[in-house]
Amino acid sequence: SSKQPDATTTMVCGYCSTGCGLNIHLKNGEAVNLTPTVDYSVNAGMACPKGWEALSVLDCPDRGTMPLLRDDQGRRVPVKWDIAVRAFCDSFKKIQERHGKHSVAFLSTGQIPTEEMAYLGSLAKFGMGMLHGDGNTRQCMATSVVAYKQAFGFDAPPYTYQDFEESDVIVLVGSNLCIAHPIMWQRVCRNPHEPEIIVLDPRTTETAAAATQHLALKPKSDLALLYGLAHILIAEGWINDKFISQHTEGYVDFRRHVESFTPEYVEQVSGISKERLHYAARTIHRGKRVSFWWTMGVNQSYQGVRTAQAIINLALITGNIGRPGTGANSITGQCNAMGSRLFSNTTNLLGGHDYQNAAHRQKVAGVLDIDESHIPTENSWAYDRIIEGILRDEIKGLWVICTNPVHSWINQNTCREILERLDYLVVQDMYHSTETALEADLYIPAAGWGEKEGTFINSERRIGVIKKVAKAPGQALSDFSIFRLVSHYWGCEEMFSRWQQPEDVFQTMKELSRDQPCDITGIEDYRMLDDRGGIQWPYPEGCQDEQSERRLFADGQFYHPDGRAKMLFEDPSEMPEPPNPRYPYLLLTGRGSASQWHTQTRTSKSSVLRGLYPLSPYVEINPQDARNEEIRPDSLVTITSQRGSIQAKAFVTPTIQAGQVFIPMHYETTNQLTHAHFDPYSRQPSYKNCAVRISPA
Ligand code: SF4
Repeated sequence: SSKQPDATTTMVCGYCSTGCGLNIHLKNGEAVNLTPTVDYSVNAGMACPKGWEALSVLDCPDRGTMPLLRDDQGRRVPVKWDIAVRAFCDSFKKIQERHGKHSVAFLSTGQIPTEEMAYLGSLAKFGMGMLHGDGNTRQCMATSVVAYKQAFGFDAPPYTYQDFEESDVIVLVGSNLCIAHPIMWQRVCRNPHEPEIIVLDPRTTETAAAATQHLALKPKSDLALLYGLAHILIAEGWINDKFISQHTEGYVDFRRHVESFTPEYVEQVSGISKERLHYAARTIHRGKRVSFWWTMGVNQSYQGVRTAQAIINLALITGNIGRPGTGANSITGQCNAMGSRLFSNTTNLLGGHDYQNAAHRQKVAGVLDIDESHIPTENSWAYDRIIEGILRDEIKGLWVICTNPVHSWINQNTCREILERLDYLVVQDMYHSTETALEADLYIPAAGWGEKEGTFINSERRIGVIKKVAKAPGQALSDFSIFRLVSHYWGCEEMFSRWQQPEDVFQTMKELSRDQPCDITGIEDYRMLDDRGGIQWPYPEGCQDEQSERRLFADGQFYHPDGRAKMLFEDPSEMPEPPNPRYPYLLLTGRGSASQWHTQTRTSKSSVLRGLYPLSPYVEINPQDARNEEIRPDSLVTITSQRGSIQAKAFVTPTIQAGQVFIPMHYETTNQLTHAHFDPYSRQPSYKNCAVRISPA
């Protein structure tokens, strides 16, 4: 037939952090179909619905084909690239002249290749003089970054996916792996050791339903419960004294700290009986290979960093790290959250370096061959501070790349109003129809996954290649080409003249990583990555390790100067907005389906994916609450918080506890309800707890 492929190439998927390998079948060099890669160690022939549908979302009427510039009447008018980029540069320069260099900022993403992130961060900060820029990874992974840096001395998830298959006890905290990371869950299902699976989650999620122990704790009692587990393990002597004394610091203080988290106290706080808690602790003790995993249930919390560190502490006191089937393992969200964590040049200097460290600035300036004075000596504001900066009129120009804050930012109502205060908003995205793109003074059309080249870093630190297998529509350009154009019109292209194509940036990234924990100087080029099925960092020059699966800390050496992991802890804090007589229910939010992704910007373009998921919002309500509120199944419900009121269809189900309701994050209205509060260390928004009331609509 006319779609009969004549060649096949390989690349990694561009949705989630699993980083599945896909075979892309080509005809005349253009993709016509795909199948999951059978011999790629990540997914071994499997893909979730999003992966199978990855090509279909590229072709749709919402794709931007021309830059759109708002005219005097407020209409979006198609313009040529030179007019668009000139307008962008002129507007930002005028703002900088009037309000200072730092009055323009950028908000980026975990969804573009690392090379594009590195180019963007370098252009914005070293070329255009910005100080503030952050990514939407603040909304998903910032907590893990801080937790790891403080505990291990570097942002270093220690695991490899093989650990899912090698553990005899798997502890999942705030992670609905079944639908959020379905291929990782398949790895769990392939585990031949019949593992005990302990899930800590207030909801009976798909994952909790499949667990051998589901601890359906009260929302945000996770920190107390984890300390309670540590209390029992220590009290029973179920700890690894040798590992603690040789490889950790802070144990004595930690032991003292958890003394008061008795099983009786934890039962009162979490609703989990002391017997079940003890049984879970005993299960961990009996495990020879225990792995601890967490994701957004922990990260998106006002006390996320300390909760993540409580998980890390459990792995440390039991010596479950550095061996197959073990680890304190944060699972990332977006396909390139890990690239963003190391190379986006937002709140970390390129290559996992530190803006406030003179030696680091000198090294980065040397590698880039730029004057050190271009490198800021201060950290950027985090995302929430940038939003606040707009509110205070300190940020007047904003460049948003491949993210959709008007939908995804916590307390969405204020976000739209705040963006309206800007003198100039530029949005660069594949689709001209996102809620944020519709607010822009200038929209610039970007190519997406499959239409450009680069690399992603997945959750297990594996660097994989993406390729151009389709032509972007109209005049849409790769983000890399857009950054080159902006450099040219800004007048700083000389600074980046060696970056003619993405692989040139990759070569620079290698040099930036030299002697860092994420050293990748031993990776020659894209071809080597492709041939090897992706390579996990570190892979320093001279590395002889040809194994496909590699984990960190096998030698018990962490990245702090003394080589020890630090145990950090703190008393749980009060929930910022607990249920109260006016708003008696607690709203939980999260992923609703394996077929949908974040704000549905891409996934809603696939008829297959739309068919797998309710198109209009729904709210999960416990049967007892539905009876009390006279809400019938499938009827329309009004959900109201202090910030807004939305409607959703009632899904009456015992999978949610009485007193709680759940709405998936994918719907445009969900974040009209959420309450903007943040972890104090990571500034990550706490999406999963705010008070609401419900009533029949
Ligand atoms: Fe893509 Fe993630 Fe699905 Fe794999 S699990 S196919 S990486 S979206």
